[in-house]
Amino acid sequence: MELGITGRWALVCAASKGLGKGCAEALVMEGANVVINARSSKALEETAAHLRHLNPAASIYTVAGDIALVETRQAALEACPQIDILITNAGGPPPGDFRDWSRQDWLDAIDVNMVTPIELIKATVDAMASRGFGRVINITSAAVKAPIDILGLSNGARSGLTGFIAGLSRQPQLVGRNVTINNLLPGSFDTDRLRSTQKGIAQSSGRSYEDVRDSFRRSVPSQRFGTAEEFGAFCAFLCSAQAGYMTGQNILLDGGSYPGAY
Ligand code: NAP
Repeated sequence: MELGITGRWALVCAASKGLGKGCAEALVMEGANVVINARSSKALEETAAHLRHLNPAASIYTVAGDIALVETRQAALEACPQIDILITNAGGPPPGDFRDWSRQDWLDAIDVNMVTPIELIKATVDAMASRGFGRVINITSAAVKAPIDILGLSNGARSGLTGFIAGLSRQPQLVGRNVTINNLLPGSFDTDRLRSTQKGIAQSSGRSYEDVRDSFRRSVPSQRFGTAEEFGAFCAFLCSAQAGYMTGQNILLDGGSYPGAY
C-alpha cells in the first residue's frame, strides 16, 4: 500500500533508539523527511546516518537535547520547514513506591510525559489544520489501560495526557480539517529500556538475566517481544493519507497481553 506521505515533514521525538527510531525508520522508508531528536548527540547522529542510508532522497535533520526543555522544543520545531507529522515520545519516569516520591518527582513526570507532548501539539496542530493534513501520534504505554503498581508516575502522567487528547482530538476544527491525534500504547517491546528493566530485576532478585527475560517473554500471549520495526510500521500507517478517519484512539500493541474484550 502506498501511504501517501512522500515529501511530508515529520518531527520524531526521542528517536535515536527504540520505538522512536522504529517510527523514524518507517516514515523515512515511506518517503517522509524527518527531524529526529534525542539527548545524546552521538547515538542521534548514528541514527541519522542510518536513516540517510535507508532513503538517500529523504532529508534528515537532527536536534540534540532534552525534549522536556523549552529551548530543545523550539529548536526542533524550527528545524522542520513545516510539520505534517508529529510523533511525541520521551523516556518514561522511574519505577518506585509512591511513598518515596516527592512533589518534584511528580512535577518532573508530568512535565516530560504530559506537558511536553501538549506543548508540541499546541505549536503544530493549527498550522496542520490550515494546510488540511496532520497526524499526531503520542507514544504512551500499555500501562495507561492496565496500570502497573510500581510505574505510578508513568500511570498518572500518561493518563493525564490521554484524557486531554480524548477531548482535543475530537475538535471539529482539527479532525474536520484532516488532523488526527492518536495514542500508541506499547506493551513489551525489545528495546534498551525493556532490557535494562530486566537487568535491574535480575540484579535485585539474584536471578540470571536470561531467566528473567524468559519469564517476561512467556508472560506475553504471543510468546515473544514486539520489535521496533513492527511498532514503526504501525505508526507509519496511522500517519498515512488513508488513516484520516481515525482519531482519539488508544491503540494497544502488546502481543495480546491486555486481557479485556474492550
Ligand atoms: P529506549 O529504547 O530507551 O529509547 C529511548 C529513546 O528516547 C532514546 O533515543 C533516548 O535517547 C531518547 N530520550 C529519552 N528521554 C529523552 C528526552 N527527555 N528527550 C529527548 N530524547 C529522549 O526506550 P523505548 O523502549 O523506545 O521507550 C520509548 C517510550 O515508550 C518510553 O516513554 C517508554 O516508557 C515507553 N514504553 C516502552 C515500552 C517497551 O516495551 N519498550 C513499553 C511501554 C512504554 P537519549 O537517552 O540520548 O535521550
